[in-house]
Amino acid sequence: MTSGGDAPGMNAAIRAVVRTALYNNCEAFGIYGGYQGLIEGEIRQLGRYDVSNIIQRGGTILKSARSVEFKTVEGRARAAQQLAEHQIDALVVIGGDGSFTGAKYLIQEHDIPVVGVPGTIDNDLYGTDSTIGYDTAVNTAVEAVDKIKDTASAHNRLFFVEVMGRDAGFIALRTAIATGAEAVLVPEIETDLTDLEHFLEREYNPKNSSGIVIVAEGEKSGGAYTIAEKVAQKHPDYDIRVSVLGHIQRGGSPSQFDRVLASQLGAAAVDALMDDQKSIMLGIMNKEIVHVPFNKTIKHTKNLNPELVPLVRILSV
Ligand code: ADP
Repeated sequence: MTSGGDAPGMNAAIRAVVRTALYNNCEAFGIYGGYQGLIEGEIRQLGRYDVSNIIQRGGTILKSARSVEFKTVEGRARAAQQLAEHQIDALVVIGGDGSFTGAKYLIQEHDIPVVGVPGTIDNDLYGTDSTIGYDTAVNTAVEAVDKIKDTASAHNRLFFVEVMGRDAGFIALRTAIATGAEAVLVPEIETDLTDLEHFLEREYNPKNSSGIVIVAEGEKSGGAYTIAEKVAQKHPDYDIRVSVLGHIQRGGSPSQFDRVLASQLGAAAVDALMDDQKSIMLGIMNKEIVHVPFNKTIKHTKNLNPELVPLVRILSV
């Protein structure tokens, strides 16, 4: 099952789960439409050819959805009943922490073994260096910002570019460093507008230079439009533009990194179930596959890499 927000590489994970199950002489079933699909019995058996030619495709062939009903005890009882009726005795959920929270309740209430595979572009899951889809989303954002830089430079403009990431600044920070942005604003660090303005006064001259400020969508003072407006009020001489990259960051063919990561984690998920494990997320830390209890990944917040945070400022001196 894929659940919650979709991410490029989810298909590669589905393929890995199905093929590893078959390799181990198990049967594999696909649940269509996340937990809501499970409740409604949208379940089909998958053979090896059902997952052919999908490793390179974005989105998810199993579709994804959000389910309010699954958040209720009754909804989860219906879900468990569907699993029993289809003689399914273990479940792999590819999703984010919301999906893992739901999985945890399903395990507690119905004793069904569930393991999780981290699939989200936001990279906001504790216990894994990278989530499936993050690398591709950053590549997409970098490509877009490179293009914006061309036009910014042609007109000596200052661009505020908003990237995705929900409440986390991982996509923003990495994109900022990879594109040589002048500044980055993330939810994890309170925005100091005065400091930003002083910095821009030194670094950006509307007569002969351009600038890029990357803003994470979860930035706490209101996002790219609000900040751009505040800066414009103080500096009417600046030639300011805002670009919100939006959903292009969720689509597209997954990078080789995400395909390999998804293949490894999908296979490891089946291995873990064969090994009688449950209530864990498979992750990757320092290139090693790790088992992280759902409780831990749900409870803890992953921090931004502290070495990368000061780098944006240092490198735009
Ligand atoms: P993600 O998995 O990407 O974080 P969501 O937060 O939307 O995405 O969660 C996906 C689905 O997981 C929800 O639609 C819901 O069905 C289920 N879910 C999320 N939180 C809970 C919860 N507290 N209890 C039970 N189910 C939950």
